[in-house]
Amino acid sequence: MTERARYSPDDTIAAIATPVGSGGIGIVRLSGPEARSILECIFRPARPLVPLQLTYGHIVDPQQAQTVDEVLVAYMPAPRTYTRQDIVEIDCHGGPVPLRRVLELCFIHGARAAGPGEFTLRAFLNGRIDLAQAEAVADVVAAKTEAGLRMAVAQLDGRLSDQIRAIRARLLDALAWVEASIDFEPDEVPAYEIDPDLHAAQEALAGLLSGAERGVVYREGIRTAIVGQPNVGKSSLLNALLRAERAIVTPIPGTTRDTLEETLNLHGIPLVLVDTAGIRADTRDMAEDMGVERSRAALARADLALLVIDAHRPVDGGDRAIAALIAGKPAIAVLNKTDLPVRANVEDLLPAAPVVEISALTGAGIAALEGAIEEAIFGGCVVAAEPALVSSVRHRDVLRRAQESVQAAIEARANGLPLDFVSIGLRGAVHMLGEVTGESVSDTLLETIFSRFCIGK
Ligand code: GDP
Repeated sequence: MTERARYSPDDTIAAIATPVGSGGIGIVRLSGPEARSILECIFRPARPLVPLQLTYGHIVDPQQAQTVDEVLVAYMPAPRTYTRQDIVEIDCHGGPVPLRRVLELCFIHGARAAGPGEFTLRAFLNGRIDLAQAEAVADVVAAKTEAGLRMAVAQLDGRLSDQIRAIRARLLDALAWVEASIDFEPDEVPAYEIDPDLHAAQEALAGLLSGAERGVVYREGIRTAIVGQPNVGKSSLLNALLRAERAIVTPIPGTTRDTLEETLNLHGIPLVLVDTAGIRADTRDMAEDMGVERSRAALARADLALLVIDAHRPVDGGDRAIAALIAGKPAIAVLNKTDLPVRANVEDLLPAAPVVEISALTGAGIAALEGAIEEAIFGGCVVAAEPALVSSVRHRDVLRRAQESVQAAIEARANGLPLDFVSIGLRGAVHMLGEVTGESVSDTLLETIFSRFCIGK
């Protein structure tokens, strides 16, 4: 089956659109030309179905003459719907069993199971939203902080797409002239100056990219490892940070099977804490080994390291072994237990990293530590009032490549190279910008993008 066939928008798809498990209600959603006729096979309404109104009734299994659930149904006719197709939503009682039965009945009567994000994919394929907006749907769902949500909503609104399209339109104007000039004699081509287009595009791309690093941080978060030997106070520090932020803590499955990651909201920045807590050892030697091993694993996946040291005892080989693992990564030396007499000398432990003195027990120094974390992430820049428009790694990378292509065209002009070279650069840039909004996008790229959606979205 080709990817296009798998994504065929002509059949009717169905999925449970609410989270797995029990809830107040659960929704089965259908989209496609057969949505209404499939519904009519299994729905016994109390009164005739009226578009865009909730209709009370029962879902029945016609073969077994059996009532499956008591439901409310919404029928939304094309084209003014999420997918621009006929959509049916069946509000069931929220248990997994009735939801599965209703979904199965939809399948029996001709629907097929929707893939991840396939409803949103249809909204894109049918031209209701562009690709950047479709991606924003997943970002709204996955937003870790309010700052991340604001950026996702701006993208869903089309603010990024509008800017990209404006840049692309200017480059297309320039490209049209370049192509015409290659194909025709100079006196056959109207006079046109492309250099202002190229420079304006370059400037606009630079503007978008200038906020991108920050945008990516707000969206993706910073993976932060709290490392250190057993009993230095890592868990206590984690708890102190959580208390300070009164954060909504979301446990999410880690990349390795049996770790949990927690996301802490540090002034809008999602700090994804890579867990190293929970190690306990019987002997001092064993404790050192375990500290090193756990730290190694956590550091491998982290952007930022907080090295916790027990201030009440001298720095030892175990501390130094963990410090050596950090080499090169942004890090902060956290001198904990400073409510006790300080015996540790951390000066040479991490020469490039700031040292912050705290007491996880009393909370002293936690605010200073938060400041140091922000400083380590953003280098002390003031947080911009306007949220960044570019916040996804994919968009940032595509825009960088577009910028390189425009630059190549500008240099080809400056060096007096034949127009073919200018054309190559412009074509590349136009194509890449189309990869953000979806004008030029391969099925494989669509597959990758939509695979991170949930089923039913
Ligand atoms: P971890 O093994 O590194 O996670 O360390 P814990 O957070 O479990 O702390 C080990 C011990 O040190 C516990 O008994 C804590 O109560 C204690 N502790 C942690 N932080 C402080 C601190 O700032 N001051 C003092 N006096 N004790 C602390």
